[in-house]
Amino acid sequence: MYNITLIPGDGTGPEIVEAARRCIEATGVKIKWDVVDAGIDVMDKYGTPLPPAVLDSIRKNKVALKGPITTPIGTGFRSVNVAIRKELDLYTCLRPCKSYKGVRSRYQNIDLVVVRENTEDLYAGIEFEEGKKETADIIAAIEKCSKKKIRPDSGISIKPISKSGTERIVKFAFDYAVKHNRKKVTAVTKANIMKFTDGLFLAVAKEVAKGYKGKIEYEERLVDNMCMQLVQKPELYDVMVLPNLYGDIMSDLCAGLIGGLGIAPGANIGKDIAVFEAVHGSAPKYKGQNKVNPTAVILSGVLMLEYLGEKDAAKRLEKAAADVIAEGKYVTYDLKPNRDDPTAVGTSQMADAIIKKLKT
Ligand code: NAD
Repeated sequence: MYNITLIPGDGTGPEIVEAARRCIEATGVKIKWDVVDAGIDVMDKYGTPLPPAVLDSIRKNKVALKGPITTPIGTGFRSVNVAIRKELDLYTCLRPCKSYKGVRSRYQNIDLVVVRENTEDLYAGIEFEEGKKETADIIAAIEKCSKKKIRPDSGISIKPISKSGTERIVKFAFDYAVKHNRKKVTAVTKANIMKFTDGLFLAVAKEVAKGYKGKIEYEERLVDNMCMQLVQKPELYDVMVLPNLYGDIMSDLCAGLIGGLGIAPGANIGKDIAVFEAVHGSAPKYKGQNKVNPTAVILSGVLMLEYLGEKDAAKRLEKAAADVIAEGKYVTYDLKPNRDDPTAVGTSQMADAIIKKLKT
């Protein structure tokens, strides 16, 4: 019996997480779920979208399945999703992007893995607002030591990238490649321009790569060129390791290559804690409509089962989802040739079809 934290999230989160929970349970793996609420729907009740009970539960259980959580624009608090990753030091964001038969896409046979650093970079949340006294102080300090001018009406975001933070993420990428029989790791940066942050990331990656010589091939790409390469010849790439912001953007690009966010799973992994969640957000416009695709959360559940060592259950669940998608009958609107197709089923009906497949 595993004790696992379940965070339904907000927007369409509770519907897709419930669908995923049922599919995971149908594999026969015994799980006791500790359900904890986070997100905009609990703000009034707890005065915060991230009540302490959520982090406490994840710390205790070490593994969580999480629904998406809305980040309202222009309010006081930052993203709950980013806060969970930072608070628990979940330094790896793992996002495999794989083509599934039956999903309409311009590309076939995509099999890429994005390994995104999850705690540093422009995502660190160190920002100074335009017009504030501390921002003026920062600007003055930077001008003094860099001898470069910054317009006084600027906002400032800080981009910290450390040696130790880079070393552990690049090691993760190589160890993942070894464990999953992958051939190559590509480090992606803009090291030609940001020499002391991306440049450091690249220098550390190069050093770490030496330890895997003969086992895993290593190469480097600039992020702008990588975007074009992935669109033109994605088959040349395998595992990619990137600083936080480029990893975020590249994840959506790769989700686009495989046919959309509805089928892109993810995992946030730290030293001994892991939180599994889809790449996509809370799609709030579809909230409560039993409409959106549960597959990305279900496939995040597959990653969770693999992480727990339940390899057989993981394989069976992935195959059941893949079979339902390949048949194309009991799938949500986004997987139909025409988005208005009246034969599209709802979130829970797609989960029912996957559960039926699991049991046959
Ligand atoms: P989104 O991923 O929620 O939705 C963008 C569009 O993608 C949707 O309108 C829908 O057309 C499609 N889509 C997404 N998920 C789908 C699914 N399961 N099935 C079918 N179609 C799907 O992105 P957004 O609108 O930019 O973000 C909404 C909110 O979610 C924002 O507040 C954002 O900050 C938050 N967000 C949360 C997470 C997370 O919880 N980890 C991740 C990304 C965004």
